[in-house]
Amino acid sequence: MADVSIKDVVKRYGSLQVMHGVNVDIADGEFVVLVGPSGCGKSTLLRMIAGLEAISDGTIEIGGRVVNDVPPKGRDIAMVFQSYALYPHKTVGDNIGFPLKMAKRPKQEIDDKVGRAADILDLTKYLDRYPRALSGGQRQRVAMGRAIVREPKVFLFDEPLSNLDAKLRVTMRVEIKELHQRLNTTIVYVTHDQIEAMTMADKIVVMRDGRVEQIGTPLDLYDNPQNVFVGGFIGSPS
Ligand code: ADP
Ligand code: MG
Repeated sequence: MADVSIKDVVKRYGSLQVMHGVNVDIADGEFVVLVGPSGCGKSTLLRMIAGLEAISDGTIEIGGRVVNDVPPKGRDIAMVFQSYALYPHKTVGDNIGFPLKMAKRPKQEIDDKVGRAADILDLTKYLDRYPRALSGGQRQRVAMGRAIVREPKVFLFDEPLSNLDAKLRVTMRVEIKELHQRLNTTIVYVTHDQIEAMTMADKIVVMRDGRVEQIGTPLDLYDNPQNVFVGGFIGSPS
């Protein structure tokens, strides 16, 4: 069964239509990358899955349940953004545990889950430090920790690495893949970077102008691009 099912989804901003009937099925545990040029609708689609943006037509199901009218909090998702705003006056531990504190979870549960997330993300030594004392990569890991403690069914990433330098981006790619394996969760990951898509995805969704051009494994798309756009974008010889 699909964990996330996007059916005939349309998005309009006033009279401007930016999404033209998008269909994507994402399986349980799959790492799916939405890729395409700037403005093609990747963030809009992700925000519609998250419930941060209403859909104009079609349906979105998460875990077999239609969530069209379900607010973000009820969707069993967590989103990691490109600009990972941390609270500067809270420690790393308090930053990671913040969603649980807001949900008024017991202190023991918060401590346990923060401890586990910190262990997974190699942040245990830094729990009492403040964000300013961390490197860019460590801050990005704190932002991921904040998503992990919520134990969502689906993680949504919107260009999480685009503010990092090239070297760190490569390291973080590997870390996010490891995270996926360890947590065994479903990930929907947005990027405009073809290499990121090719190296990280189980399945790639290539988008253009609010439409899906092709869906397949990195190898499928490389070997059998359905059109010149996909071939050119993915970088296979034509
Ligand atoms: P991507 O993330 O692939 O760069 P977006 O999803 O941000 O693309 O945008 C898709 C299209 O929707 C673009 O043409 C963009 O200008 C338009 N768009 C996004 N948000 C809004 C908005 N709030 N109002 C009007 N148009 C928007
Ligand atoms: Mg975007």
